[in-house]
Amino acid sequence: MSAQRQYSSKVAGQYLGTPNANGRYNVTLIKGDGIGEEISNAVVKIYEAAKVPVDWEPVDVTPSLINGVTTIPKPAVDSINKNKIALKGPLATPIGKGHQSMNLTLRRTFGLFANVRPCKSVVGYKTPYDNVDTVLIRENTEGEYSGIEHIIVPGVVQSIKLITKKASERVIRYAFEHAKSTGRHEVIVVHKASIMKLSDGLFVQCAKEIAKDYPEIKVSFELIDNTSLKLASDPTTYSKVVMVMPNLYGDILSDLSSGLIGGLGLTPSGNMGEKVCIFEAVHGSAPDIAGKGLANPTALLLSSCMMLRHMSLNDYADRIETAVLKTIASGPEHRTGDLRGTASTSSFTDSIISNL
Ligand code: ATP
Repeated sequence: MSAQRQYSSKVAGQYLGTPNANGRYNVTLIKGDGIGEEISNAVVKIYEAAKVPVDWEPVDVTPSLINGVTTIPKPAVDSINKNKIALKGPLATPIGKGHQSMNLTLRRTFGLFANVRPCKSVVGYKTPYDNVDTVLIRENTEGEYSGIEHIIVPGVVQSIKLITKKASERVIRYAFEHAKSTGRHEVIVVHKASIMKLSDGLFVQCAKEIAKDYPEIKVSFELIDNTSLKLASDPTTYSKVVMVMPNLYGDILSDLSSGLIGGLGLTPSGNMGEKVCIFEAVHGSAPDIAGKGLANPTALLLSSCMMLRHMSLNDYADRIETAVLKTIASGPEHRTGDLRGTASTSSFTDSIISNL
């Protein structure tokens, strides 16, 4: 079966970087933890083979605690601020040292308010549904991830879900802009305002207001439990829409969506800010398979293709994407174990290169 281009939709927003003295583009590279090194090296090797005009700037993001706040090293922050763009492998948060989530720290440091997570069936890799094509936008900075938790008395804890008008409006407006620029006709706001009347209620209220600025785009509202049911029973319902939702719902529904197309090894994402964007796979650091040569680099590679399109390097994105999809479609001996294949990370990478 022939492969076809998959994630051709671009992300809304503008790339603010400029070419370097050699006419190439500097991109900050955070290799990450667990399988991060293996999958990042695969991407670098494929870029070299495809002659992509990108100069990688690898940075160390090992955090320190400054006044109780998890802080990213200055050289890494400076590199990302200078280049305006980064590709990031999965990061694990150091345990037992009082650190806040590394991913959240990065999102806050660079104001990455919207996380765009497309999910599309891979032709040639059979799953129960052949035509999944969803776009989910997750609020990226607050909600259930605010990290505000207290022990009230032993045995009673309180966790605060923080929702602000400012962050809600920003991500919802982004969702409408994304729908407009990618030809999707509807924005579905996913929530649970029936229970969280004030917090999700505010999110819904913001969406109602912002929708007035986009009369050409339909807006609808769905309870998260209903969306889960419909996504699992007929994902095509969501083919021409953009879903937008608070942080934790986005985390859960995007893993559900990944499951519909073959798992976490396949799904890319982009963290969008006003000035800076960081592209990364949806999956985590997968410590269970780290260092074993089993990791599937596809999700990071497809994230990098979203990044290339954002930089208007579409031809390179098309070429790499076509090669990876052709490789996946060419049979289990060319696929990694998560896709019921027998290939290692490096043999899969070499197959992609030979398909370029
Ligand atoms: P986090 O909490 O950091 O989001 P997680 O608990 O969701 O992480 P992951 O690290 O994403 O977990 O891994 C979930 C499962 O998916 C693991 O069994 C892992 O091995 C598998 N997995 C994740 N990414 C990949 C990949 N790129 N290739 C192969 N398997 C993967």
